[in-house]
Amino acid sequence: MSGREQQYVQEAFATNWIAPLGPHVDAFEQEFAALVGSRHAAALSSGTAALHLALLLAGVGAGDDVLVSTLTFSASVNPIVYLGARPVFVDSEPTSWNLDPALVSATIERKVRQGKPPKAVVPVHLYGQSADMHPIMAVCERYGIPVIEDAAEALGSDYHGKAPGTFGKAGIYSFNGNKIITTSGGGMLVSDDADFVAHARKLATQARDPAPHYQHSEIGYNYRLSNVLAGIGRGQLQVLEERVVARRRNCAFYQQALGDLPGIAFMPEASWGRHTRWLTVITIDPAQSGTDREAIRVALEAENIEARPVWKPMHLQPIFERYERSGGSVAEAFFRDGLCLPSGSNLSEEDLERVVAVVRRGF
Ligand SMILES: *Cc1c(COP(=O)(O)O)cnc(C)c1O
Repeated sequence: MSGREQQYVQEAFATNWIAPLGPHVDAFEQEFAALVGSRHAAALSSGTAALHLALLLAGVGAGDDVLVSTLTFSASVNPIVYLGARPVFVDSEPTSWNLDPALVSATIERKVRQGKPPKAVVPVHLYGQSADMHPIMAVCERYGIPVIEDAAEALGSDYHGKAPGTFGKAGIYSFNGNKIITTSGGGMLVSDDADFVAHARKLATQARDPAPHYQHSEIGYNYRLSNVLAGIGRGQLQVLEERVVARRRNCAFYQQALGDLPGIAFMPEASWGRHTRWLTVITIDPAQSGTDREAIRVALEAENIEARPVWKPMHLQPIFERYERSGGSVAEAFFRDGLCLPSGSNLSEEDLERVVAVVRRGF
């Protein structure tokens, strides 16, 4: 927290707006939409909830196919399954580690030929970096397939000057405790389509019809963000840029201090925009380095320093193994060799040096 959040929370208490609606919710939505450059936004209880509603409103339902990045966190996929649809896992490309546009294209075209075009495509913008959106949008537009962007990890980044999450029909963001800014828990859905966002708000508040009595003509959810947490969000928005600078500084420090080690490589920053370095991620090639990512992770753990492997691809997850996939070996290699280093915005230089010393010793 920066300190500014407390003033907004105080305001919520002073005005007694302790509810899943209120002035902070409205203001947070407006300020967020302005920041990412979207027309409308709905503040929700989580990024997962936002993705669930976005997919539902895009028309995804039972038996539909939805293309999604295989290299991601399970929350990108679970809402597809909530709706009874079937994820189709698509591999990464090595420039951004995100959806491979050529594979997206080939998979869509194959499915169109088979007479079953996918109902939606969910690109994930991983670890603070945008996917290559122009070719992905081009093929989806050609076939009229809605794109729902999972930008939970990429707030503060850009793709040719535009925020990931604002290219498709809708985008989702997360304010979970581990993200670059947080409300402890929370999420946002953005879209340029006013009706889409209004409908999401309605579904998120138990789908009440506009009637004085309680009347419902569709199934609703309890997915709204509270006015107290929206107050925290407003304070956090003001320090987003500082957070990005701090995260990028961590990465630059690691690059400078570890870049000479044999077999080490950093997740690249693609030429199309700014990587926030929400997490600094390295790969360790065992053939060149004489060690591997697991040995380094364990060495860090022994010093009470938490580091984590790159996301285990979804097509390798026991719960998702039965679903279709396109490629997968690129993501598997990132998982095998990839390690997320400590990346918090509040790390001191001494903290970073401790990490560096353990990693260097491991080599
Ligand atoms: C964190 C995250 C989510 C889910 O957000 P929550 O707010 O925790 O529900 C979705 N997708 C990705 C890629 C994430 O990292």
